[in-house]
Amino acid sequence: MERLLSSVLKLAGVTKAYGTLNALDGIDLSLPNDSYVSLLGPSGSGKTTLLRVIAGFEQPDLGTVVFKGQRIETVPPHRRDIGFVFQNFALFPHLSVSRNIAFGLENRVENPVTDPAIVQARVKDMIALVGLSGLEDRGVAQISGGQRQRVALARTLVTEPSLVLLDEPLGALDANLRARMRSELRLIRERCGVTFLHVTGSESEALAMGDMVLVLDSGRIAQAADADTIYNRPKSLAVAGFLNCYNLFEGRLAGESFLGPYGAFPLGDQMQFRDDRTGYAIRYDRVAIRPAEAPVADDEVKLEATFVADEYSGAAINSFFSLDDGRVFEVESHLSQSMPPACAPQSRYALVWKRRDALVYA
Ligand code: ADP
Ligand code: MG
Repeated sequence: MERLLSSVLKLAGVTKAYGTLNALDGIDLSLPNDSYVSLLGPSGSGKTTLLRVIAGFEQPDLGTVVFKGQRIETVPPHRRDIGFVFQNFALFPHLSVSRNIAFGLENRVENPVTDPAIVQARVKDMIALVGLSGLEDRGVAQISGGQRQRVALARTLVTEPSLVLLDEPLGALDANLRARMRSELRLIRERCGVTFLHVTGSESEALAMGDMVLVLDSGRIAQAADADTIYNRPKSLAVAGFLNCYNLFEGRLAGESFLGPYGAFPLGDQMQFRDDRTGYAIRYDRVAIRPAEAPVADDEVKLEATFVADEYSGAAINSFFSLDDGRVFEVESHLSQSMPPACAPQSRYALVWKRRDALVYA
């Protein structure tokens, strides 16, 4: 049988103003069932406001919110069947792991579970699901940050919501733990089959975790697509900028060239997107570093710059160059592909890329 509802949540024209500021400015979106959705946007772009409107802590000024086929704009938060995991976890510090998880189940307004045997069984399942077996009776002050994050998640999941909203859930964890929790969160979601809407300010987190990625810019959805599309084909200069992996130039198109602050970049059969601004983008890892005097092929573009510094990060080296006006140009070399030449600080190099690897916006 065909599934009647392929999307769990649909927003149309959702607008929310604070004074004269439109924190949300006509949001249209549709979240698929049983999927991991990342919501990426810079600070102040409206991510938390959007979650609060979906959860019911804020009312939209305009627009509709349809959840499992029903309008819910006026339904109070506790009757929405939507779970919320906050950035700071908000656990009860004096209660144990088990008691924190049981609390939501015993005290919810709709269908509280009062039979202690049922509560205990559900809490036990949940503790196993999030990988906290053995820590049931620990106080939440006696466990690590990553474990507290799991308690917060378990406390939400135990109530069996149809949608879970997570507001920068890994923001308070250190880098190692954050990387580990990314795959944990994906696994936990797969096991319980509910849609997660995960807010993050980190482009790598959004791309690594989301089956679908929503990019928010000044209260509007700038792009909604799978991670691969967002990464390879950001549809505007703004989105390319948020991804932090493209060198961007603004300028104008003139004949077969892009004219920017560093002269003419010849165009080839690159992808072109409609945008209010005219610009040119080349991804950090599409650029080769060559000696300044090296020849370039017909299908290549060359830009000369001064080497500043390298930064190693496991599988890649990021090299920073200074352009003639002092702007930084970044090159990322994946060590599995090619070792970049050892560059001498203050020396000139040619940065070279294929014409077809550029993205043009106009
Ligand atoms: P994000 O979570 O992406 O950082 P927010 O949704 O918190 O962004 O905020 C979006 C914009 O709305 C910001 O400019 C913020 O200052 C403003 N804002 C958020 N909440 C309120 C509020 N309760 N009152 C006034 N302005 C608010
Ligand atoms: Mg926020």
